[in-house]
Amino acid sequence: MDHVRGFRCTVCGREYGVGAPRGVGDVDYVCPLHGDDGILDVLYDYDRIQARTSPKRITASGVGTMWRYKALLPVDADAPVPPLRVGWTPLYTAPRLAESVGLHHMWVKDDGVNPTASFKDRASALAIVKAQEVGATTITTASTGNAAAALAGMTASVALRAVIFVPKSAPQAKIAQHLVYGARVFLVDGTYDDAFELTLEVAREFGWYNRNTAYNPFMTEGKKTAAYEICEQLAWQVPDVIFVPVGDGCILGGIHKGFRDLLALGWIDRLPRLMGVQAEGSASLVTAFEQGLTWDQIRPIEAETVADSICASLPRDRIKALAAVRETDGRFLAVSDAEILGAIPMIAQKAGVFCEPAAAATYAGLAKAVREGWVGPQDRVVLLLTGSGLKDVASAMRTVTTPKVIPASLDAVRAAVARWDEPAHADRAG
Ligand SMILES: *Cc1c(COP(=O)(O)O)cnc(C)c1O
Ligand SMILES: [Zn+2]
Repeated sequence: MDHVRGFRCTVCGREYGVGAPRGVGDVDYVCPLHGDDGILDVLYDYDRIQARTSPKRITASGVGTMWRYKALLPVDADAPVPPLRVGWTPLYTAPRLAESVGLHHMWVKDDGVNPTASFKDRASALAIVKAQEVGATTITTASTGNAAAALAGMTASVALRAVIFVPKSAPQAKIAQHLVYGARVFLVDGTYDDAFELTLEVAREFGWYNRNTAYNPFMTEGKKTAAYEICEQLAWQVPDVIFVPVGDGCILGGIHKGFRDLLALGWIDRLPRLMGVQAEGSASLVTAFEQGLTWDQIRPIEAETVADSICASLPRDRIKALAAVRETDGRFLAVSDAEILGAIPMIAQKAGVFCEPAAAATYAGLAKAVREGWVGPQDRVVLLLTGSGLKDVASAMRTVTTPKVIPASLDAVRAAVARWDEPAHADRAG
């Protein structure tokens, strides 16, 4: 792993070397001077990476997972990876969705097709490799639901144990995933933030490997692979704008990291503008952005939104998230729960992708950005669709009308079809 130079504290900039015991050098996950706020950034020797791989070689590799970028990840070349097929998810062109907001060039990245149906598989897959590297057999995490589902699935695939902490209000489908995969599940009477604090203590108490987002520095590294994929899928071109749903801000920070890596390698020549989309009821980064606050001036709020995956009282990765937006000339924007719910059938009907509320927030954010003039018709735009709609069927059902039950007769269908506003026999001609 000589392509990893070490770690840098995002608070004080102090650098640490690589080494035992956790693969995080002489520190355990975070900068000892800054405690749980001192999230580390993984540093690379880009010359070494450059010498070993190239866009051409990656494209020719034929590896159909995030591991096609193994040479750019903090793992050994021969490190075993979990067998489940994570990443290299489709980037679909979405002309009808683009048209609905007056754009000409738009793509959706469907991360709902990952093994546990969310973007979080990218981070959890890397957590498995890092945990195995240090011989850990139990991995713990706090989660709003998806990170834990991803961890439960990935650990099951390699016979490790997952111990997860989720708020008791997490959607049923996500809790079902945790349980069916055989994780030890703690339903916490409290928020995600309460669960997060609890896992820090629990992991120390029992010596379990901690996968927590915005604590374990490797989670950002797993998430950055989506940035590589977007570039490669656009023939190593950079889109103009990417919309990313933001809870803790780890995905946003990861996407930024991915593009910064490619820039440092000279494989791209600019960064895309990163737009962080939050729910109005969980919008502390929007407030910070609009008021020009620094990360340490952000205070916890009572977060509440239908988009459970982006419900965070105090975004844990706020340092990386603010940097992602500020250093790319992007912005943070807030959308209402009604706009988020309305976006679910829009994306489904105009792009064919059924996503959960947090992911749908990206389209709501795009619509707002177009209205406000932050995005123009010629911009090449990507929406990062981070999770499947099957994760939260109850919210999806709020966006549609349940049909009436009919008798099983042709007459009943005739009567119903007669009330449609489009012709019933349109297909016969073709
Ligand atoms: C976790 C998650 C997010 C938000 O990611 P953060 O890193 O917490 O900002 C968005 N969408 C989905 C589906 C998620 O699971
Ligand atoms: Zn520090």
